[in-house]
Amino acid sequence: MIVLLKSNLDEASPEFQQTFSFLSQLPGIEVRLHQVRGAEQVLSEIYLIGSTKRLSTDEIATLPGVERVVRVSEEYRILGRHRDDRRAVGFEYNGVTFSQDTLNVFAGLCAVDSRESVEAMMTALEENGQPCTRMGAYKPRSNPYSFQGHGKTCLSYVFELAGRHGIRVIAMEITHESHLDEIRTALQETGWPTGVLIQIGTRNIQNFELLKAVGRQNDFPVLLKRGFGITLNESLNAAEYLASEGNSRVVFCLRGMKTHLGDPHRNFVDFSHVPVVKRLTRMPVGIDPSHSVGSRDRAPDGILDIMHVTSQGVAAGANLVLVDFHPDPQKALVDGPQALKREELPWFLEDVRLARECYERRHRLARSFQDTAPTPGGLTGV
Ligand code: PEP
Ligand code: MN
Repeated sequence: MIVLLKSNLDEASPEFQQTFSFLSQLPGIEVRLHQVRGAEQVLSEIYLIGSTKRLSTDEIATLPGVERVVRVSEEYRILGRHRDDRRAVGFEYNGVTFSQDTLNVFAGLCAVDSRESVEAMMTALEENGQPCTRMGAYKPRSNPYSFQGHGKTCLSYVFELAGRHGIRVIAMEITHESHLDEIRTALQETGWPTGVLIQIGTRNIQNFELLKAVGRQNDFPVLLKRGFGITLNESLNAAEYLASEGNSRVVFCLRGMKTHLGDPHRNFVDFSHVPVVKRLTRMPVGIDPSHSVGSRDRAPDGILDIMHVTSQGVAAGANLVLVDFHPDPQKALVDGPQALKREELPWFLEDVRLARECYERRHRLARSFQDTAPTPGGLTGV
């Protein structure tokens, strides 16, 4: 059960104290306080964990400071969509809004290889009005002898250049909780010129200790990649691990499933699950066409498979696109064969805009037939 408190309710206020102590004394119930800090207000939610069936929502709703009480089902208690659950979806981070109504493109380097590549990509992003990017510093590789990423040594120039080129948010994968401190320290040393969306990759999605550590911090929101060989339910539960530890600013990202049934693509493209994840949870849903397709192959119409699957995901309502670009893919140290070229960025972005327009028109069409679907927001960040 989730008890939503009135906005900006001070923890020292008598209303808060009275409500919190009443709930804390309920037998067999564990009480956890969770705060969502938005740009203008602080929202407090109290989670009641345990045998809540016999509790009366009406009684709890009369406690001082309580806005609303939501009875949640067993599945995805915090991030899930529950009956009568009108809680706002999404969050704002460093000037960028992430929700089930917005769309942000994160085009950038799969792996940072040199300062020059970072600069070239960020210049192109700035020229195309893009405030977000991806920059891999810590790379999880199948082969221990492959390039593992420059790690903390590249962070200061990546952040500095981001600040110079107007980049507000960088998606950056971490593979160990110590990387959080390295990123935080580098941001502090460079004057916090940008934001970081901490990425947890497909290989680490069931690294529960890493999930818990990332969930315990609130400096950074999280981009969680779907597990490539587990069920959707298991992947969504991994997201719930983050939220249950206190960080519910999570974007869930589809990236294809590992099976030869998807050949010749690197992974079986699973973007048909965009609306499914939006229905089951309140998380914004991203797609990663690069790791799904894994090549620069194109159809006879001249359009790259990466672009075709991107438009499929965006036309289905995706909220974030994570895509590999490189100024010189042949020289990329990781995943060069799937990287788009820097000069293809305007083409890619225009193709995304067309697909987003298609989604918005499809949404309006659905509303005209049903009159119930909520309105999507505008083309944020594209
Ligand atoms: C990546 O985005 O660089 C990556 C390694 O992705 P995934 O975890 O989906 O394989
Ligand atoms: Mn990669």
